[in-house]
Amino acid sequence: MTSSETTMKETVQAKWNKRPLIISGPCSAETEEQVLETAQRLANTGKVDILRAGIWKPRTRPGSFEGIGTKGLPWMQQAKKLTGLPITVEVATAKQVEDALHFDVDVLWIGARTTVNPFSVQEVADALKGVNVPVLIKNPINPDLELWTGAVERVAKAGIDQIGLIHRGFSAYGNTEYRNAPMWHLAIEMKRRNPTLPFINDPSHICGRRDILLDVMQKAVNLDYDGFIIESHIDPDKAWSDAKQQVTPERLAEMLNEIVWRKEDTPSEEFHLALEKLRQQINHLDDELMQILGQRMKVAELIGEYKKNNEITILQTNRWNEILERAFGKGEKLGLSKEFITKYFDAVHMESINHQNKIMND
Ligand code: PEP
Ligand code: MN
Repeated sequence: MTSSETTMKETVQAKWNKRPLIISGPCSAETEEQVLETAQRLANTGKVDILRAGIWKPRTRPGSFEGIGTKGLPWMQQAKKLTGLPITVEVATAKQVEDALHFDVDVLWIGARTTVNPFSVQEVADALKGVNVPVLIKNPINPDLELWTGAVERVAKAGIDQIGLIHRGFSAYGNTEYRNAPMWHLAIEMKRRNPTLPFINDPSHICGRRDILLDVMQKAVNLDYDGFIIESHIDPDKAWSDAKQQVTPERLAEMLNEIVWRKEDTPSEEFHLALEKLRQQINHLDDELMQILGQRMKVAELIGEYKKNNEITILQTNRWNEILERAFGKGEKLGLSKEFITKYFDAVHMESINHQNKIMND
């Protein structure tokens, strides 16, 4: 290795461990000038750690811009030389891994449309054997943590020991606010299962539009994410892909300044004592909730017995609507959202139905 290569490896290690880790750049590399100017303007903000660009673009429908291809890799190499920033691109096939490594790409990422397909992930993993490069893995398009985990396992088995996770939201039918529904609970569960892997948020692909990026970023910071991968373009409206969600490098810097950065912990003893007391209250309330839910199921079972003896169905839709309406009325006064009440009662109702069904079949 030459000494400049050694220095770059060290830079990449330092960036990988830095918090927050900020990765930015255009959705797609379009022209040499666009890549270089974006890189320079991002570097000028002093807030970006790694430069991204899509070289091969997996598009949902044919006919839109499918990426500039291998020809864009020397532009990225040039951008690195110009700014000193390590570079990252998406790879989906063995050939793309080979090409990216040939042009000294420092970090690779596996896209959402690849994570869904174990054949593709395995092909990429096989191409990574014997290579020492950090790999970021986006969540699959569909809300399936096992697929995401499977991709992590395949890449880890190939010998890659620096793996990071990117939360970019999930496809959801009928979802309108976001391009990809964040489904934060799934991300939180993945983070819980993989506490040592860097966990990065991709607000661009979650939002699909500029105006709500900052909200999503703040939420990610509040949930203790390790950083962002966010798209930026020198002239967002003219971008060849994902125009609506990109921001200029200068706007990105402003947004990063507007975020209230929070840390997971503080050494303050006073804070810990106060928190501990409140947590005990929560534990106590949770215990009571469990008791009450258990009692509720017992009553539901008694109702089940009556229904069985009188040969009537478990479900009476009117009664169900009545329960929900009552709960909305009460819940509103207690500051509970309709969304929460619906989810909570759906779960409680399903559990009651299962208990009653068991009684009917006994
Ligand atoms: C991208 O990062 O440009 C991209 C294609 O993202 P995703 O795989 O999340 O759709
Ligand atoms: Mn994109």
